[in-house]
Amino acid sequence: MVARSRIQARLDDHIAQLVQCRRCPRMQSTPVSGGAVLSDVMLIGQAPGPREPVLQRPFAHTAGKTLFRWFEESCGLSESTVRSTIYFAAVCRCFPGKTSGGDDRIPAPDEIRNCSSWMNDEIKILRPQLIIPVGRLAIAQFIDCTKLEEVIGHKFRAERAQHSFDLIPLPHPSGASPWHKVLPGKKLLKSALNLIARHPAIRALRAERQLARRTQRSQ
Ligand code: SF4
Repeated sequence: MVARSRIQARLDDHIAQLVQCRRCPRMQSTPVSGGAVLSDVMLIGQAPGPREPVLQRPFAHTAGKTLFRWFEESCGLSESTVRSTIYFAAVCRCFPGKTSGGDDRIPAPDEIRNCSSWMNDEIKILRPQLIIPVGRLAIAQFIDCTKLEEVIGHKFRAERAQHSFDLIPLPHPSGASPWHKVLPGKKLLKSALNLIARHPAIRALRAERQLARRTQRSQ
């Protein structure tokens, strides 16, 4: 219990510093954090869109709706449960702004480098059993991702920040890409979600939630 509260204090301190970060002058918002959730599971997004900084939470808009539906359907975890039991990180924590064509700008290599220390520190603090990178840019921070078809639906053993963990990549849930809606993406997404649902860290999280609910009902 003491160890847990020490880790929580380190994570609280980490988030307090993260939200003050202003390393990247081209970013168009301040950092977005999902909060200091102590977890064995980390979910890594790419970068917030324009709405996340306003709503002050990651995956707050349409892509989030799809992502949370995937978790509900495959793992039986509601959005509020996912948000309160999984640690949300991202390749970059600030909104990069729009391109001249009106799309969200992909973070530049220097911005990704700047932000990588936050993710490394989170891995050192949480020492997660499972990391779920969402989308090509997030996946590429851990393994080669030339083709989504070669990585979605598979579990990998990866290492970062002197810690090894299971890695189960997901495609980006954005409506802009049809990849996960048509074959073979549709089938591979299903396999990836099944792998996540069966992973011991997710099963433990679900069991804890059920126990908490039963305890609440009996009081
Ligand atoms: S993208 Fe990351 S490193 Fe850059 S200012 Fe935002 S939090 Fe800091």
